[in-house]
Amino acid sequence: MLKTPFPKSVIIIGCGIVGAATAFFLAGRGVDVTIIEREGPAAAATGAADGAVSVASKKPGPMMTAALAGISVYRDLLAQGILETVFKPRPTYVLASSDEEVPVVEAHVGALRSAGVAVNLLDRKDIHGRFPALSPEVRLGAEVKDDGHAIGYAVVHRLLTASGVKVRRRVEARSLIVSRPGHVTGVETAEGRIEASAVVITAGSGSDRLLGLDGVLMPRKGQLLVTERAPELNASMPGSIMSGRYLLSKGTQKGGAPSERGYGLVIDPLTTGQFLIGGTRENNNAGKSNDLEAVARILRDAVALVPRLAQVRLLRAFAGIRTAVADGLPLIGRAPAIENVFVATGFEGDGICLGPMVGKAVASLILGEPAPLDLSAFNPARFAPKEIAA
Ligand SMILES: Cc1cc2nc3c(=O)[nH]c(=O)nc-3n(C[C@H](O)[C@H](O)[C@H](O)COP(=O)(O)OP(=O)(O)OC[C@H]3O[C@@H](n4cnc5c(N)ncnc54)[C@H](O)[C@@H]3O)c2cc1C
Repeated sequence: MLKTPFPKSVIIIGCGIVGAATAFFLAGRGVDVTIIEREGPAAAATGAADGAVSVASKKPGPMMTAALAGISVYRDLLAQGILETVFKPRPTYVLASSDEEVPVVEAHVGALRSAGVAVNLLDRKDIHGRFPALSPEVRLGAEVKDDGHAIGYAVVHRLLTASGVKVRRRVEARSLIVSRPGHVTGVETAEGRIEASAVVITAGSGSDRLLGLDGVLMPRKGQLLVTERAPELNASMPGSIMSGRYLLSKGTQKGGAPSERGYGLVIDPLTTGQFLIGGTRENNNAGKSNDLEAVARILRDAVALVPRLAQVRLLRAFAGIRTAVADGLPLIGRAPAIENVFVATGFEGDGICLGPMVGKAVASLILGEPAPLDLSAFNPARFAPKEIAA
């Protein structure tokens, strides 16, 4: 295995949640960290996410194991006071509100239980007792107990503040400086060269060009809505709710046909008294705009599930682009055939949940210490680079 000596300095390319978390864990060990960011912290997916820190939508396998490790790192950071008021532990309720969704949710409960996740199957009476505001159409629900919620940009702010690492804003990485095959000495930017003993690429959709992995990453647009405050209704919801169709849109469970635009409803009661409602999962990169068809459909679905939302005003709609990997698993680890470049990207709709844990894992790899998770399923070397941008 390639081994790097303890790095004196590390450049992190991209300041989303993964870059900020990597900076936090490296700086905590005395490494001199520079983050370069082509826009500003949380400017891309991290600033446009819902924020479910959740195992509820995962199927058993490496992503479920990663999500459980991700939740555990959130709990540690909460206990240390770093994510106080930013990470809110709360359950997720996966609901079946049509005959088609009943077997989907039941199969999912079986899958979660087989992986040791704490989950309760609630029949019609129990779920309506728990959520009086739900439509009578809801037939059953699965309560996934140990989930939570975090606002991505707030996590980034806390991690940067706690680490003291400064971000060099509006500096775009153009290429890696390759000094000899398999080794880099820094990054070429529009502002000139920056040198360091190791480089971490956490540049979301900008990562593949730097790594010569064209065609491996793909965009998945998502549209979300935020309502005004409705404290009474909000207080009557003990956790977030997720439609059985969301599992279909994520490919977690088979059954029915996922809709073309990947509609799958999630309603999150925020600590502000507002509701965050999503969303779509579209196979395109069509900017940060919303369209009326999607907004109207998400609202219709939300009101069908929680009829009292019809009295709550919509404040704003926004959209972001998730970065997915062709085989559905993120890239986390040493860059193929370069001893001192590391990559962590391709988290699609799970990067808020996984981000802090991935930052910890990447820092461990760089420091040559045991990672908080077996990363072998995520090894970037499963894709061969065409040509490194150098
Ligand atoms: C609508 C929507 C809903 C979501 N909901 C959830 C959810 O409920 N739960 C969950 O866990 N996840 C969710 N996600 C996914 C989550 O937001 C992402 O997986 C996560 O934010 C990815 O973080 P990142 O740090 O890898 O990338 P990003 O946040 O995309 O950050 C990458 C950064 O790199 C910078 N950059 C790119 N190229 C360069 C370059 N060449 N030089 C310098 N800087 C560069 C970009 O400007 C950007 O700031 C959602 C995403 C969307 C869009």
